[in-house]
Amino acid sequence: MKIAVVGTGYVGLVTGTCLSETGNDVICVDINDAKVKKMQNGEVPIYEPGLDLLFHRNIEQGRLTFTTNLADAVKDAQIIFMALPTPPGGDGAADLSYILGAAKDISKLITEYKIIVNKSTVPVGTADKVRAVFAANTSIEVDVVSNPEFLREGVAVEDFMKPDRVVLGTTSERAKKLMTELYGPYVRQGNPILFMDERSSELTKYAANSFLATKITFMNEIANLCELVGADVDAVRKGIGSDDRIGKRFLFPGIGYGGSCFPKDVQALVMAADENTYDFQILKSVMEVNERQKTIIVDKVLKYYKNEIQGKHFALWGLAFKPETDDIREAPALYIIDALVNHGATVTVFDPEGMENVKGVIGDKVKYAQNQYEALEGADALLIATEWSVFRNPDFAKIEGILKNKVIFDGRNLYDLQKMIDLGYYYNSIGRKLID
Ligand code: NAD
Repeated sequence: MKIAVVGTGYVGLVTGTCLSETGNDVICVDINDAKVKKMQNGEVPIYEPGLDLLFHRNIEQGRLTFTTNLADAVKDAQIIFMALPTPPGGDGAADLSYILGAAKDISKLITEYKIIVNKSTVPVGTADKVRAVFAANTSIEVDVVSNPEFLREGVAVEDFMKPDRVVLGTTSERAKKLMTELYGPYVRQGNPILFMDERSSELTKYAANSFLATKITFMNEIANLCELVGADVDAVRKGIGSDDRIGKRFLFPGIGYGGSCFPKDVQALVMAADENTYDFQILKSVMEVNERQKTIIVDKVLKYYKNEIQGKHFALWGLAFKPETDDIREAPALYIIDALVNHGATVTVFDPEGMENVKGVIGDKVKYAQNQYEALEGADALLIATEWSVFRNPDFAKIEGILKNKVIFDGRNLYDLQKMIDLGYYYNSIGRKLID
């Protein structure tokens, strides 16, 4: 099939690449000139495990191309995917200007029937708005399909190639047929393609992300309580996770959810509910608790230093909002840095993939180390914000030789408590016994 993908971010580039992998001809279009040049020169502009291989293979086979020219992209495409940003607008509701703007541009270019597929996370009713844009600008028939994306950064290729489910919001038989054909290779193992109306499909994505954000937040609250009552969150996690109704996944406590999706999607769902005069109380609490959790590690640092960290120097391991990505949008690490610096401390950071993006956002607010051990030089304590594998089994003898004091504040519960007792560390983690 001939496919166009508009927007080549984390979702668009993975979608385009993975669709070309099953033999489709895919042309990806983006307004970011520099990014398109990079891709045309064979460079993957984001860090996403496994993407390189597919990206290069399909470029070489001539199935995956890149352009800044929308007209070239949509001309022959049977299906046009939109994978565009939907950031929070001023009021917190999703800003649809990218989607509706692109829809308008596309509507003026098409000369034959197209399926317009929206992969972005959008509020209920967006498909109707997109359809209205087309109706206002062209008499050519289009089907507008809602196809929310559930991939996770860090395992995005795997998630796209073998999705738990594909959700397709459309009532058009013509669109259903083509979309079933397109997604067939990805659901061979029997995972379902779920057809539903557009509104249900649009809400499914917000409901999924908000549910997951709630699950994380619930566990963070349990962890905070564990610290106060002398319980161990690891034991509680296993205790509840072994109940099938709860499940083992997404129960690890930490320093709050971040990333480009959960924060904005929870907020957008709250706003959409408000607009429909529904007070979505549980999600309002989730947002509030998560705000607090993002800097809980700084509260622990301040308590340890009796509120006096002016002139102290900290090493921070981890910047990305989660491991295996270079995405730092809404990363808790950024809030931790802000809070430490505002209290007069200095920080040296290290992250395996997120350094360049952080430099672009906060510049010389912190120092950047070449590796995790260099970050420890002259530091009074080590803080951990992302659970990269490379931090899980560090050389503690080396740490001891560089870090000024054996003090670790761990926002991701990476180390065994007994080990930290044996090694003689002050070790403050989330929802577990304080080792001091
Ligand atoms: P992103 O910011 O990484 O990428 C968006 C891309 O669109 C950028 O490359 C930008 O230059 C390009 N763009 C902007 N306007 C354009 C236009 N008019 N024409 C062509 N290109 C244009 O965004 P993302 O993380 O890929 O997210 C896209 C959508 O998918 C959002 O709605 C997001 O909520 C949703 N989503 C994201 C994820 C994720 O893990 N990142 C997962 C599921 C769903």
